[in-house]
Amino acid sequence: MKVAVIGTGYVGITTGVTLAYVGHHVTCVDVNPAKLASLKAGKAPIYEPGLEELLSLAAERLAFTDSYAEAVPEADVIFIAVGTPPLPDGNPDLQYLQAAAAGIGEHIGEGFTVVVNKSTVPIGSGNWVDALIHEAFATRQGKLFQEHLAVASNPEFLREGSAIHDSLYPDRMVVGAEDQRALEVLYTLYRPILEQTFTPPSFIPRPEGLQAVPFIATDLTSAELIKYSANAFLALKISFINEIAALAERVGADVTQIAKGIGLDARIGTRFLQAGIGWGGSCFGKDTAALIATAQDYGLSMPIVAAAREVNYRQRERIVEKLLAELKILKGRTIGLLGLAFKPNTDDLRDAPALDIAHRLIERGVRVRVHDPVAMEKARREHPHLALHYCETPEEVAEEADALVLVTEWAMYRELPWEEMARRMRRAVLVDGRNFLDRAQMAALGFRYVGIGLNPLE
Ligand code: NAD
Repeated sequence: MKVAVIGTGYVGITTGVTLAYVGHHVTCVDVNPAKLASLKAGKAPIYEPGLEELLSLAAERLAFTDSYAEAVPEADVIFIAVGTPPLPDGNPDLQYLQAAAAGIGEHIGEGFTVVVNKSTVPIGSGNWVDALIHEAFATRQGKLFQEHLAVASNPEFLREGSAIHDSLYPDRMVVGAEDQRALEVLYTLYRPILEQTFTPPSFIPRPEGLQAVPFIATDLTSAELIKYSANAFLALKISFINEIAALAERVGADVTQIAKGIGLDARIGTRFLQAGIGWGGSCFGKDTAALIATAQDYGLSMPIVAAAREVNYRQRERIVEKLLAELKILKGRTIGLLGLAFKPNTDDLRDAPALDIAHRLIERGVRVRVHDPVAMEKARREHPHLALHYCETPEEVAEEADALVLVTEWAMYRELPWEEMARRMRRAVLVDGRNFLDRAQMAALGFRYVGIGLNPLE
């Protein structure tokens, strides 16, 4: 099939590359010339494992352009994957979605086309996009008929850091549409993935036992609400265990044991029950805020979702409180942060706890030294006014530091020469914001180890 993908961010490029890999012809459209130049040169504009390799494997079925006129008229399916960043009132900013829909309407061809909202968009956006396309088409050449266009919602559930894996082997595929033809077209488009008929790339093997992916066909509105509900539920699972972690600390219990003890109950499940600094990233904060804003529009409150947000953002201040408890005075101290990205295996800094914690520490007069294996350049570029001291190595972060905070659980941080790190520090205080390191080992190396929700070491 011929596919157009509007927006080549984390979601758009992953969608484009995986669809090309399984056999479709994909043209990706973006307005950012730097991204397009990088993609045309076969380079991934973001850090995402496997992306560059897949780009090269699928190169002959992929094209990149800034021109809607090149991508849209011939496409059977057009994905909208532009950003929907949050506005101050919690609602998503829909200007990019609006521009994309208008661009599609101006260039849509005469054949039957399915336009798919893959961006996370508020309830009712399917209808809105439909109207915008009709409107833009009308300014060009009169009425666009129903036989030409159907709008669908196909929310994306990929996780940054394993985006290619999640797109080739999703847990489920959700497609919402009012028009049966759209569901059929999207089933056909996704058939190689739904029926797992493609040859897996050697570097991202198929999970054992996966034979077929459930296809969940819904109405438009339900698909839109599925995305927000899924993210809100995951966010509140993490906030729940962080709330329990605070109590565990007070009563001398261990939250990792509690998580295991409750998680092995199949009704609860072990995943997303790791206590720590809490969630960040481009989705959970934005999508929980949007869900609350939508509910408000309908005269409803969402106290559970609101509480999940409150617990999460409080968690970042708790790290500062832990440092204060250890160091007594923060002003004039040097504190090192290990990890800037909001989670490992990505360079995404949107709503990253590290930046928030750094900001809180700087406000209290702390000198902040930082390291991240992939996100430092982006941090320098995107946050030029944040007075961070960037270090090329974790060892350099430790130099003369009064404390270290492990913020992002990059695998490489497990392998550090921790004994040497301790020696380099002024005080060997280690706040492990992800309960990631072996605390007995760290204590044996001379660290004062502080985790999240752990009982005191005997
Ligand atoms: P992103 O900011 O990384 O990418 C958006 C891209 O769209 C950018 O490259 C931008 O230049 C481009 N763009 C903006 N306006 C355009 C226009 N008019 N025409 C063409 N291109 C345009 O965003 P993202 O992280 O990929 O997220 C995209 C959507 O997917 C959001 O709604 C997000 O909530 C949702 N989502 C994201 C993730 C994730 O993990 N990042 C997961 C699931 C869903």
